[in-house]
Amino acid sequence: MEEKQALLRALPKVDDLLRRLAPVTADMPGLVVKRVVQEQIDLCRQAILDGQSSDVGVPGITGRIITALGQVLQSHLRGVINATGVILHTNLGRARLSDGAMETLTAAATGYSNLEYDLESGERGSRYAHVEALLTEITGAEAALVVNNNAAAVCLILDTLAKGTEVIVSRGELVEIGGSFRVPNIMAHSGCKLVEVGTTNKTHPADYAKAVTDETGALLKVHTSNYRIVGFTQDVPLKQLWKIGQENRLPVIYDLGSGLLAQLGDYGISTEPTVAECVPYADVLSFSGDKLLGGPQAGIIVGRKALVDRMKKNHLLRALRIDKLTLAALEYTLRQYLDPDSAVQSIPTLRMITAPVSEMEAKAKMLTSLLEARPDVHYSMMDTLSQVGGGSLPDVTLASCAVGILSDRLSANTIEERLRVGNPPVIARVSQDSVLLDMRTVEGNEIPTLAARLNHISKT
Ligand SMILES: *Cc1c(COP(=O)(O)O)cnc(C)c1O
Repeated sequence: MEEKQALLRALPKVDDLLRRLAPVTADMPGLVVKRVVQEQIDLCRQAILDGQSSDVGVPGITGRIITALGQVLQSHLRGVINATGVILHTNLGRARLSDGAMETLTAAATGYSNLEYDLESGERGSRYAHVEALLTEITGAEAALVVNNNAAAVCLILDTLAKGTEVIVSRGELVEIGGSFRVPNIMAHSGCKLVEVGTTNKTHPADYAKAVTDETGALLKVHTSNYRIVGFTQDVPLKQLWKIGQENRLPVIYDLGSGLLAQLGDYGISTEPTVAECVPYADVLSFSGDKLLGGPQAGIIVGRKALVDRMKKNHLLRALRIDKLTLAALEYTLRQYLDPDSAVQSIPTLRMITAPVSEMEAKAKMLTSLLEARPDVHYSMMDTLSQVGGGSLPDVTLASCAVGILSDRLSANTIEERLRVGNPPVIARVSQDSVLLDMRTVEGNEIPTLAARLNHISKT
């Protein structure tokens, strides 16, 4: 008892600790520092009362205060090094913007702009006007509109064109897309009645034709982005669905998901039609801004003018509207597509998809040259396959090169975890017993940092 009392009396006072810590906390917000100091003293007091008084001295407390402050004041949304090789990793923020898009975004963020101001007439303008002409030029559509993301785009389309009606969808296309985008739920929210046709693996044109009633408001096709049913399958190609729509005077809506704007056939990727190739066979199409397009998060709607005009008048649009920073980055990114060949080089997503394997080999060589030799850690260059990710091009794999790490002391899962929880976090893949760092998604300027993190981990 007396010993506890003595320890409690010896606990440092808040002001005393604040004075000692002043050199390190000078630039930190005072209220936060004070709260953390008080919390750490309280924890020590509780430890003493619980009879766990092993480390309640001043050095221990100050050390823990500094660690706690670091955690509180560190930004929660942090940059990471993506060594997974998955280019459009939904959990890691999908597409990276180009430097040019970033500069445009920064200018829009830090200054005023003609966001909703018509410079010629001096009157109120439309925020949607900044990208509409670009989108119609690139896709060949009559009209275009942009919203917050593709989920919002699908909601707006259905709410405007098919509320209270039946919408026919193939059972094989009732997909859930990463991050809980479920077609049946979106339909329900939009006040549409879902009419499923066909079976999971096969849907025939006659299935649609038979399901059309007086209540039908639209035919919907959904890109089965993140999975492929292989083998005994049949879906109704867009062109045939378009014909059924024409015969029954029903709009055909196509949720494209990814939205490829440039031909990648020269790079061996020809499984996916471009948006422009689909536009003639659908009344309205929608796709994401931050998947294959390589821009910021956005939902893009293109299609017939009469229908897009109705969406522009829908009050829901106000709740789904795109913000000015997104708009600035999107306009810049879309402008790159006016010259498709240069888009493949200047848009990071397309550059990563089309990068030759020799580039990844060069990066792997550079990384291994910076790694310190250790008897118990083995680094090697390995062939691997990268993925596009984000539900885009699911059947495309890209030959790549990885640096593999194998340790005699640490399991692959331990190394993966240490890479992930350190600073900056490195997200890697574990394959069999090795940790793989796929060089496709690692930038050249990240390699020295990556090497430093690996050298540190292998020493500990
Ligand atoms: C990704 C995807 C969506 C959701 O798009 P967000 O921009 O993430 O809202 C919807 N439909 C399809 C087919 C998709 O691939």
